[in-house]
Amino acid sequence: MNLFGLPLSDLVDLVRSHRLPDYRARQVAQWLYRHHADTVADMTNLPTELRETWADEHTVDSPQPQSVEESSDGTRRYTWVAPGEDIYESAVIPEEDRLTLCVSSQAGCRIGCKFCLTARKGLRWNLSSAEILGQYRNLPEREEVTHIVYMGMGEPLDNTDEVLKSLSVLNGEWGYAVSPRRITVSTVGILPDLEHLLDRSDVNVAVSLHAARREERLPLVPAENRHPIATTLELLRHRANLRLPPFPGTGRRRLSFEVVMLDGVTDRPDQAEALRDLIRGIPSRVNLIPWNSFPGTTFRPSSRQAIERYQAVLKRAGVTATIRESRGQDIGAACGLLAGRHHAESRAAAPDAGTPGVAAGRLSGQAE
Ligand code: SAH
Repeated sequence: MNLFGLPLSDLVDLVRSHRLPDYRARQVAQWLYRHHADTVADMTNLPTELRETWADEHTVDSPQPQSVEESSDGTRRYTWVAPGEDIYESAVIPEEDRLTLCVSSQAGCRIGCKFCLTARKGLRWNLSSAEILGQYRNLPEREEVTHIVYMGMGEPLDNTDEVLKSLSVLNGEWGYAVSPRRITVSTVGILPDLEHLLDRSDVNVAVSLHAARREERLPLVPAENRHPIATTLELLRHRANLRLPPFPGTGRRRLSFEVVMLDGVTDRPDQAEALRDLIRGIPSRVNLIPWNSFPGTTFRPSSRQAIERYQAVLKRAGVTATIRESRGQDIGAACGLLAGRHHAESRAAAPDAGTPGVAAGRLSGQAE
């Protein structure tokens, strides 16, 4: 069995099955996530006999990045290979006072959002907790990462168990001890998994709303069919009324709603009003995401003016609305452009292919 990626609770079950005291699980966790041990043999404070039997039975495996590409704006895109050769990706986004790591939860995705390039692959592989966490553990700039967002490939709540395990390891004081306030999970809103996420973790949650009215959301987000945004909002409103997480009085978690800004499709002022009415009474903020284009769609990105007009409607109603800066477009590392392609292909698909300053490379010493 691979020990890497197991949360403390699973390690406790494991040591108990060997009739060992619980504190051994904590020691193993610290070797895995504090000292970055590569083998059981490295875990020198475990009894010699145990180390020897475990070394035969258990591995410590985490994927290494296959390649990295750097954008002219400093954003980097890492690729990783899943067992069936499917590629998944992470983006590392430097900003003035932070370094954000954007991780994938699946290779591909089956939600099928019409404006998203990842969707075109369909679902190829559900990432294990080890594969999700490997994107952090084996990232060359891990030490500098200040924020982690589950906004790469995949729908986190279509792979909830592994995502929850990975969050437990990231947050655990026996694990990577990353504050949950620095972690955000983005989802189209899948019930009851969203409830589990809110109850079993302390991370920030972003709900991809895009359009408030069902008839406008359905053609963009097919998941609206089985997971209506109205039902998600009902749950959130109910939790806000009861002051259940993530709402005030329950720590400093943050709920946000995301809207991809598509010209004439999601960016009209009446749509901003509909969104404003939908989220009324739910303490939250709204993130407006300029759409990153790719070939083969009829969508167009909204004008800056339209985005600001949308933002103004929300601001007038006292809703905090921010406009996300788009990063890493030239290397296909921006929101919704992670497509699990190799460099040459992804550059051909990127709107600004060939932008000067783009550096690409295989990571030395890594298998192809
Ligand atoms: N499946 C999760 C995570 C997806 S990525 C979710 O849907 O929330 C995070 C955000 O990027 C989502 O809001 C998604 O809708 C958005 N996105 C997808 N494609 C995009 C594109 N081409 N340009 C800008 N944002 C995009």
